Amino acid sequence: MITWPATLLVLLLAAGQAFAVDWQVSRFAGRDYVSIDKIAEFYNLPRKAVPTEKNLSLARARRSLLVTLGRREVEINGVKYLLSFPVIAQEGGYWISRLDLGKTIEPAFRPELVPGVKTFTTVILDPGHGGHDKGAASPYELEKNFALDVSRRVRDELQKAGLRVMMTRNSDAFVELQDRTAMANAKQSSIFVSIHFNASPNRDANGLEIFCITPRGSPSTEYDELLVRDMIQEHGNESELQSFILAGAIYHSLHGSSLTMCDRGLKRARFAVLRATKMPAVLIEGGFLSHPADARLVASKDWRNKYAAAIATGILEYKKLADLKKAPRLAADYRNSRPGESTPVAALPSPTPATGGVVLRDLPEAAEN
Ligand SMILES: [Zn+2]
Repeated sequence: MITWPATLLVLLLAAGQAFAVDWQVSRFAGRDYVSIDKIAEFYNLPRKAVPTEKNLSLARARRSLLVTLGRREVEINGVKYLLSFPVIAQEGGYWISRLDLGKTIEPAFRPELVPGVKTFTTVILDPGHGGHDKGAASPYELEKNFALDVSRRVRDELQKAGLRVMMTRNSDAFVELQDRTAMANAKQSSIFVSIHFNASPNRDANGLEIFCITPRGSPSTEYDELLVRDMIQEHGNESELQSFILAGAIYHSLHGSSLTMCDRGLKRARFAVLRATKMPAVLIEGGFLSHPADARLVASKDWRNKYAAAIATGILEYKKLADLKKAPRLAADYRNSRPGESTPVAALPSPTPATGGVVLRDLPEAAEN
């Protein structure tokens, strides 16, 4: 272990102010780390907490951080996030990489201080797949059709709230990824939300996850090691903090709603639509079509309505942040605002029985684009 240098001044630039903090950055195995004790001090969390079974849990008021030694999964303010690097133990305490402090912990705890969260007038909704590209499949319906159906429901909610919506496809058409991002990049004052559903050969895999672009110099969530492409600065990296905050706003809304799907986390990936878009951009995977319970939920129109409404709510929370510098609501805020439901729902309710056959009878809509 090398402590290098003993003390280093890190400036967190926020809202035009520079917070000078003596973070005492230390270098372990060639990477900069900050101690959880320092993080606790800075964010006014309880200090000198003692880990139980490699878990360290810090919570005060509305802010909480739960880390596990050796893991990239952390829980911040009640939902799961994936760090770039695992939490390590050094000098009798736990440490988080400096990159994770700047790219995850800080924007998750203080989104209202992140500069460059600009207002927008248009939401670009990107229903995944289409045409011969069917995406995943459940016994009820294909991913491409669920994605279009949900996107239309999100569109309707956003339009009701007065936002403009552009869809990268509004029919069962195949659209190349580069055409989707070119369409988006031609639109000023916008954000980009891609709607997908998941599938896995592992039939037990289930739950919701959301992606924003991997920061430069960090492995994507799916990988343990850095790849050469992780060193490339993509268009998407120009607004990576804003994308992260948009993802968080939507993700907290999803988990604060009564969707009852498991929390797989806010993750990082270098998907084509996240790399090439020049505006805040996220990709949501709304449950596993390969998982029986998830598939039943997604096949229910009621569930898709709720799901779309929760996505729209998250987008509007991001808009509030952009317009009013008001931090997006957390999952717990949504739950607390529903009478008799102050704790997360642990058990999956019996899913709405699927009617079988085509569940998306209302799918065809005049092709507009
Ligand atoms: Zn997909």
